[in-house]
Amino acid sequence: MINRCAIIGLGLIGGSLGLAMNERKLARHIYGVDTNRENLAMALAAEAVHEAVDLKAAVIDADLVIISVPVGAIPDLLSKINGWLKPGTVVTDVGSTKQAIVDEAKSILRPDIHFVGGHPMAGSEASGFAGADSYLFENAFYLLTPTPETSPAAMDLVRGVVEGIGALVMEIPPDEHEFITAAISHLPHFVAVALVNAVTNMPVADRALALSAGGFRDTTRIAAGSPQMWRDIFITNRDRVLDSLAFFRAAVEELEEAIRAGEGERIYHTLSEASKVRRELPIKPRGYLPYVYEVVVTVPDRPGIIATLASLLGDAGINISEIEILHAREGYGGTIRVGFATSDEQNRACDLFRAKNIKCRPKA
Ligand code: NAP
Repeated sequence: MINRCAIIGLGLIGGSLGLAMNERKLARHIYGVDTNRENLAMALAAEAVHEAVDLKAAVIDADLVIISVPVGAIPDLLSKINGWLKPGTVVTDVGSTKQAIVDEAKSILRPDIHFVGGHPMAGSEASGFAGADSYLFENAFYLLTPTPETSPAAMDLVRGVVEGIGALVMEIPPDEHEFITAAISHLPHFVAVALVNAVTNMPVADRALALSAGGFRDTTRIAAGSPQMWRDIFITNRDRVLDSLAFFRAAVEELEEAIRAGEGERIYHTLSEASKVRRELPIKPRGYLPYVYEVVVTVPDRPGIIATLASLLGDAGINISEIEILHAREGYGGTIRVGFATSDEQNRACDLFRAKNIKCRPKA
């Protein structure tokens, strides 16, 4: 158990961390700091932190400092707290980009302060403490980005907290982190924003947006995210975002040319390649432990169906690792993908569902 922990920034991520750490008794005392009084008050009331104090009081005795503010505000905070921290303090952050922060931490912090870069791969387009959730990190990947200079003891401490809140630690070098997150997070956000803005600029925008259903909504959900957070991400991971955009542009041009030339075979090939990859996306990326054993369940779309599936599994003592609704529209059937930690649970789940005449198939 950590003695004193300070969480700076009690919005979606910092607030969720406080709730998760306190619920699991990972720290004796958690100090909370936030420039947003509303978030601070909510975090205190929800017992995400034990005490709301100013920055200096929060960090001066802290064994662990967690920085959970927008990426652009992190260097300034590191400079402010550097002189107040006691020797040996471990500082970690949750910023969505890592290379710039790891570099800043190295140049700003004293040598007797130990920094560990972190990035929970969990969150949503909501922001502020109102969206905080103590289960946000359960079974989610939490990337840690040590460098050769990172203290092994500091890594152990941060790893203990991350595992304690139910997340799955993955170590990754900061530069590789930037490549991967540009591809699977920053490029998708860029595309979602561009798509919304493109449709908004069309002459039919008003009626088109009013009629928007599945495709547009699914593809653009993330565009509702915090502009401040995403501005900072695009600025601090500029090079890798631009690299990934070059691949995106090539893909756009390929399909555009095929459509312009009216080449049905070429269009079909491009669409079917993407369709195949998308359909086979596992809930968790393969190759990374732990493996998730999935079943695909087809059910009528009616109220309570997820509760029915969950209670069948719960009554049989089978734990759901992941659940994803693939599609569901009123009056149509829904397809749900459920993931388990073991193949035994996968097989038992299938048997249970089939015994109740629920269509189910294990996913290879
Ligand atoms: P958030 O909900 O907006 O919360 C950030 C909180 O920090 C706000 O209350 C903000 O106040 C406060 N703050 C800003 N600057 C501060 C400072 N200098 N000192 C003290 N408090 C300050 O943001 P979030 O979504 O939790 O994101 C926090 C970090 O997590 C970001 O670095 C982000 O990249 C990373 N992250 C986010 C997600 C996600 O899905 N949201 C996922 C993974 C990682 P104001 O409201 O007044 O600005």
